[in-house]
Amino acid sequence: MPPELVFDASFGELFVIRVAGNVLGPTIAGTLQYAGVHLHTPLLIVLGHEGCGAVEAAIAEKFHGARHRSRIALLLADIIPALEALDPELPPTELLNAGIDANVRWTLRKITGSPEWRERGKRK
Ligand SMILES: [Zn+2]
Repeated sequence: MPPELVFDASFGELFVIRVAGNVLGPTIAGTLQYAGVHLHTPLLIVLGHEGCGAVEAAIAEKFHGARHRSRIALLLADIIPALEALDPELPPTELLNAGIDANVRWTLRKITGSPEWRERGKRK
């Protein structure tokens, strides 16, 4: 579903960064900083989604030894630390839902823990 419909916004009103597994790599961090510094974006939302295949693949790698192609493995390496506190004995759907939630929180912690974010907070 287009984010503009979710947030009842017009085209051009949202600065949307879409990335598998809502991970925060260097280019995403740069894009966020651009949105904050140059576009003065007032609100940041990290939005995961039900049935996230990227989180599911990270769970498969962490708990079941699945292996993935090299670039996908790089993506999953940004998600796997988020899964640290999960109970692998949970039923699969609960484990995935907990992983999706933990992954959103992990990305938010990385953003709000960055020196750039703390500096932005001081200016207000
Ligand atoms: Zn997903």
